[in-house]
Amino acid sequence: MTKPSPLASVRQSVQNVAAYPYTPSQARIKLDQNESPYDFPADLKRLALERMAEQPWQRYTDLNTSSLRQGIARLEDWDTDGVVVSSGSNVMIKVLTELAGIGQTVLTTDPTFSVYPLESGLLGANLVKVPVNADLSLPLKALKAELQTRGPGLFVLIQPQAPTGHLDDPATVRELVEVAAGEGWLTVIDEAYHQFAGSDYRELVRECPGVLSLRTFSKAWGLAGLRLGYALAQPELAAQIRKLVPAFSINVLTQTALEVALEHPDYVIQRTQEAISERARMLAALTGHPHWKVWPSRTNFFLLQSGDVASTFRYLEERDVVVRLQKGLPVLGDCLRVSVGTPEENDAFLAAAAEAR
Ligand SMILES: *Cc1c(COP(=O)(O)O)cnc(C)c1O
Repeated sequence: MTKPSPLASVRQSVQNVAAYPYTPSQARIKLDQNESPYDFPADLKRLALERMAEQPWQRYTDLNTSSLRQGIARLEDWDTDGVVVSSGSNVMIKVLTELAGIGQTVLTTDPTFSVYPLESGLLGANLVKVPVNADLSLPLKALKAELQTRGPGLFVLIQPQAPTGHLDDPATVRELVEVAAGEGWLTVIDEAYHQFAGSDYRELVRECPGVLSLRTFSKAWGLAGLRLGYALAQPELAAQIRKLVPAFSINVLTQTALEVALEHPDYVIQRTQEAISERARMLAALTGHPHWKVWPSRTNFFLLQSGDVASTFRYLEERDVVVRLQKGLPVLGDCLRVSVGTPEENDAFLAAAAEAR
């Protein structure tokens, strides 16, 4: 008798999916993960550490994460009952796929943020991807056609888009959201980068019960290491989402640090302004580059194309700059994704660019 493989009970859909791809680099200038180049302000970090020390670590945290959700509700002018928190918005993407994707469809664009196809694959949802237009805008007609035939399920809009940095016309987004609502879809508007675009879909979420905005502390807030994401939805939908978030999954240290950040949100404004002006400076300096093409962006990163992205990647790494390889993107082909860093880091990147062949 042959023994069954030790992996025999691992679902085929899990075995079929490649693990989240990321290769760390030793390069000093880190422009590969769209993080903030700046740590949490030192005085706030000290305050957070003091408060952490006062917490009872042997106790479970507040099941309802009330004070954290209240802080977010105040910041966003939102009903506390409509706020759902998770340990990073990546976790919320899993939860939303469980909520509306399993046994149904996840509809998104191509390219899209990699975690949506990843979770669809792992959880066995039917994934439908529609290529973006040549100018990277949303393919309105094609998405409408899919919304009208493939529902119900989870409809994913990312504004501004990732990994392209493109911000769409709000009228297009509204039209799609309304079609989706009419067909019974749950729509997530992933606003991970909205601060860098000046865009904000809270109003649409207030109007439409089947729509939510997904937000994170990982980008503009510069707190990727703390792991906190949240959804803004109407309370009835939020209550359903909350059932799927594992109990006690936001640890007391994260909750404490986030409460300090929410009491002192002003540092985010100046940093966001700097990222926006640095983005403009980088894109202007790279326009007309003899060998590279850059795409306009409304986020804290931009896409760059060169004749051979793998060799450009290595060239930059030799200059101590690491960016993200994005091979074979639909519509675009091979690209490099470059995060906006500090002015000094961006200078180093631009100096390398000026000598690139
Ligand atoms: C970075 C990013 C997130 C945030 O992920 P976290 O898990 O909150 O760090 C979500 N969506 C998109 C499109 C992103 O680029």
